[in-house]
Amino acid sequence: MRCRRVRFKPSEALRFLGGLAAAAIVLGLVVLRVTSCAPAPPPRPRPVPIAPPAAPPPPVAPPVETTGACGQGPAEAARANTAALETLTWRPFGRAEAGWETYAPLIARELRTSCAPQTPGFAAALAAWAGAQRLPADGVMTEAAFARLKGLIQMRRPFVRLSAQGVCPAAPAAGQLASAAVAEGYAGKAIQLRPGALAAYRRMAAAARTEDPRIAADPRNLTIFSGFRSPESDAARCAKEGNCNGVVRATCSPHRTGLAMDLYVGQAPGFGPDSSADANRLFMSRTPAYRWLVANADRFGFVPYPFEPWHWEWTGEAP
Ligand SMILES: [Zn+2]
Repeated sequence: MRCRRVRFKPSEALRFLGGLAAAAIVLGLVVLRVTSCAPAPPPRPRPVPIAPPAAPPPPVAPPVETTGACGQGPAEAARANTAALETLTWRPFGRAEAGWETYAPLIARELRTSCAPQTPGFAAALAAWAGAQRLPADGVMTEAAFARLKGLIQMRRPFVRLSAQGVCPAAPAAGQLASAAVAEGYAGKAIQLRPGALAAYRRMAAAARTEDPRIAADPRNLTIFSGFRSPESDAARCAKEGNCNGVVRATCSPHRTGLAMDLYVGQAPGFGPDSSADANRLFMSRTPAYRWLVANADRFGFVPYPFEPWHWEWTGEAP
């Protein structure tokens, strides 16, 4: 900090002291400048600045009513999409996968179409969206188009926006967590969440059961099989079982926030409700519970993790 010396000569100053107001002004200036010339305090360690989370992409609006127009659109793109739906060879989440049907409900939601992914109407919606995104607007589903869609969906998760800045949120204290009722846990499992997240979950699950009788018909639907997990328990689980979810779980899991929850949305025969096997995730993507969540969870403040149909995060509070 540079410091200007106050050139304050009493003889000059006296000329200005004709009036009380002028004296007050001069005195004020002297005080100000002397203050600014005080020796600088010893430097204090500065906290690492943490930028506020980037603004999330806007929530996607409900689908426009396109059911009647699903036959209209680029037929060739629709044929290509139909073939790729089961055969596209790609790595959307770093692991080789075949086909994109598992992600079709989330993609259709983002494109605001209610047309099936094999239809010309879906291809038309994809073309319109891609054009707005300055991507090739031919209506063909590609890995590049999915990467853009995935980015939009992922960045609606506050936890992901923090992670992108290298920030791992601290876990809430035990006293800041609420316990779910026994019937709300999958197979009676004890579940803890932040109170706001639990209340939002209850509103959402009640609406789902009211709005879709197929969801209400299976009491397991939308029960919670994992809520808050302490960083310590995740690390222990990782070390003991090798259940590290690609190290992510051991290092910084969204479940430490008390805002993330794993919901039962069905399970393919022979798989568990949290199996990330492709066949299981594909099965889940077709269930009424998952389809309802994709269409409605944002009404209750929840956002998805596209790779795991069961994993949802409440956005009503900062992680
Ligand atoms: Zn989860």
